[in-house]
Amino acid sequence: MNTDKLSVRLETVAKYVPIESRLADIGSDHAYLPSYLVKNGQISFGIAGEVAKGPYQSAEKNVMAEGLSEKIVVRLGDGLEVIRPGEVDCITIAGMGGSLIASILETGKEKLDSVNRLVLQPNINAFAIRSWLVENNWELIAEEIIEEDGKIYEILVAEKGEPLKPYHDVQEETGLLVGPFLLQRKEIAFQKKWSLEKKNWNRIYKQLEEAAPSSETEEKKKELVKKISLIEGVLSNEDSEWS
Ligand code: SAM
Repeated sequence: MNTDKLSVRLETVAKYVPIESRLADIGSDHAYLPSYLVKNGQISFGIAGEVAKGPYQSAEKNVMAEGLSEKIVVRLGDGLEVIRPGEVDCITIAGMGGSLIASILETGKEKLDSVNRLVLQPNINAFAIRSWLVENNWELIAEEIIEEDGKIYEILVAEKGEPLKPYHDVQEETGLLVGPFLLQRKEIAFQKKWSLEKKNWNRIYKQLEEAAPSSETEEKKKELVKKISLIEGVLSNEDSEWS
């Protein structure tokens, strides 16, 4: 792939990396994101971190082939362990599940002292990230939702600050689930995502109704009812073609 052009998903992540950042891109795979940012003059130093040997090797190969080895170091390691204390001020983590992203941040907490901004793109379960941010004094400052190649992605941007500030004007539980900024905008991709989730939850609910009753299935059904009604509240005043 030519890193002069990124996917819309990674371009959206790139947009939120401040100029002149010292960046660590964790789970960098081919190192497309740091390569693009260096070539665009947006960052002066980048670490491409990878836990898996294959992606690590392909990141190394690409960085070398692009002649970017002086500005991007590729390191093999789990999560934030590839960062030395004080080395970076911005971290991007994209293309993984939200729980994995939250656990990478939790495990590497001590590396976040020098970090001013996190740009996170979970493929699923952004709730886990929003909850982690609130519990760890990071303030969500922006959110985006985009659709690309039939998939919907959320991008979450956070800085150290007042963790509950974005939730002041929305119901907190709803905000944590769907995103306080996204909730206020309710773009087409947002309506589509949550209408599809709702359909999926209804389908699971029906399956649980047909399963042998147990306290576990009852608990799951209760949780689903709560989430479905929460989403119905969010979508109720929308004239959505997907609901
Ligand atoms: N960030 C790129 C993107 O958004 O296009 C690549 C996403 S790829 C689907 C996820 C990558 O994260 C894989 O290459 C995987 O090896 C890496 N990864 C998963 N867990 C990791 C961890 N704990 N630390 C570092 N990398 C990890």
